[in-house]
Formats: sequence, structure tokens, C-alpha cells
Amino acid sequence: MGKNREIKTRGIILRRIPFKETSFILEMLSEDFGKISVIAKGIRKEKNANYGIIDILNELEVVLYKNPSSEWYIFKSGTLVKAYLYETEFTKSLYMQAAAEFLLQIIIPEEDAHKLFRLIKDYFDFLGKVIGNEAIVFWRFLLRALVILGIEINMRNCVICEKRENFPVAYFPQKSGFICENCFRPHLKEEVIELDKKVSKIIRDIYNSNKLLNDLLLSAEIVSQINSIFLIHLSEHFHKKFHFKTLALIK
Ligand SMILES: [Zn+2]
Repeated sequence: MGKNREIKTRGIILRRIPFKETSFILEMLSEDFGKISVIAKGIRKEKNANYGIIDILNELEVVLYKNPSSEWYIFKSGTLVKAYLYETEFTKSLYMQAAAEFLLQIIIPEEDAHKLFRLIKDYFDFLGKVIGNEAIVFWRFLLRALVILGIEINMRNCVICEKRENFPVAYFPQKSGFICENCFRPHLKEEVIELDKKVSKIIRDIYNSNKLLNDLLLSAEIVSQINSIFLIHLSEHFHKKFHFKTLALIK
């Protein structure tokens, strides 16, 4: 048994699970350590000084204890930096929670923690400012996260002819990218997901930010096809089923 050491870090609460009568287990994305599990003992007692700050998607400056022989961190104290869900409208709050859901399902190497922490903060801030088409902001968040994790989706070139200028018509999971209209052959139908015309347009313009955000109103079908491309990609890479349960609540 090693001695407990005190650790200061910044983190965002991705999930909290009631534990025993008065405690929570917090799953946090910490700036320094990636995803960590923190036991906050006695925190659900109303007289506890930290009672009000333990909400989902709160960013906290925390002091934790860690016993070197254990995976777990113990919450000592915290101060609220920002409450991202506070006064956030419903749809935006769901897209914020979908990002948390994504982070909960992936493996985060410690060396990627800083970048992902920065990314999710920028995503929350940007989402707060857009009017409509939140899905596009969410997809860009996912694309950036995939680049950080080294498992990006190639949105720019056809994965067969490598040309940039052709129109993407199908997603090819095995190659983590899209096939252009010139390379598509009927015998590929079994292995690819053919894209709706509007989806093709969005894929082509996904990095052309202002154009997309201003011009477009997304239908539920388009959103669900693009979400499913991400889910298939993630399942291929992590060898398990992925989901965005929160997004099912969007009308
Ligand atoms: Zn091609």
C-alpha cells in the first residue's frame, strides 16, 4: 500500500453515478490524466460544501487523492469553473451530452488528454453560439477528436482514386473514407453505404464551415445517416458497438 498523494487538476464531469447512500462516482475527463473515476464521498448530503457543483458537464478545478496502488481517485474539494448545461437550450444540451457519451465510450491515451480537453471546451463554447444545424458542429467535433486519436475519417479524397474534386457517393467502412462517383461500382454495394445526395453535399463541404452552417437545414434522415457513418467507423476501430443515445431524444 503506497501513501495517498494529493493531485490538482481540471476536469469535466461526463457522468455521475449514485454510490451508496450519500456518494457519487464521477467519470471525469481530466486535462492531465484523460478519463478518471472519482469517488466523491458524502457529497450528496445537502450540508456538504461541494454539494452544488457536482452536475453533469460542469468543469471543475479539483483537488483529488490518489493511492498509487488503486485506479480510483478520491474527491477532496473542487471549485466550479463553468457549468456548460446551465441555461442551455434543450437541443444544444443534447449535443453536448452526445459528446460526453462519445468520450465515455472511447479509450483515451493519457497523451491525448490535453488536446481532447481543449477540443471539448471549444466545442461547447462554439455550440453555444450557433443558431440551428447543431449536428454539423457535433460532426466537426467528432472529426477533430478522431484526428487526435489517430483514427480519422478521410473526408477529402476518394479512397480509391484519391482525387479530391469528385463527388462522394458512398462510405467505405473498411477504408475509413468515401468513394467518388467515378469509382463506385455496383459490386461494391454489399460493402458500402450509399449516400443520400444531400449527405454527399454535406460530406464534401463539411470543412467549409460558414457556408454549411448558414445555408442548410438538416432533415432527420440526413442527420441519422451521417451519425450512423460515425458509429460504424467507431465500431470498426474499437471493436464494439457504439451509440449516441441522447441524440434519439431530438425531435
Ligand atoms: Zn474515386
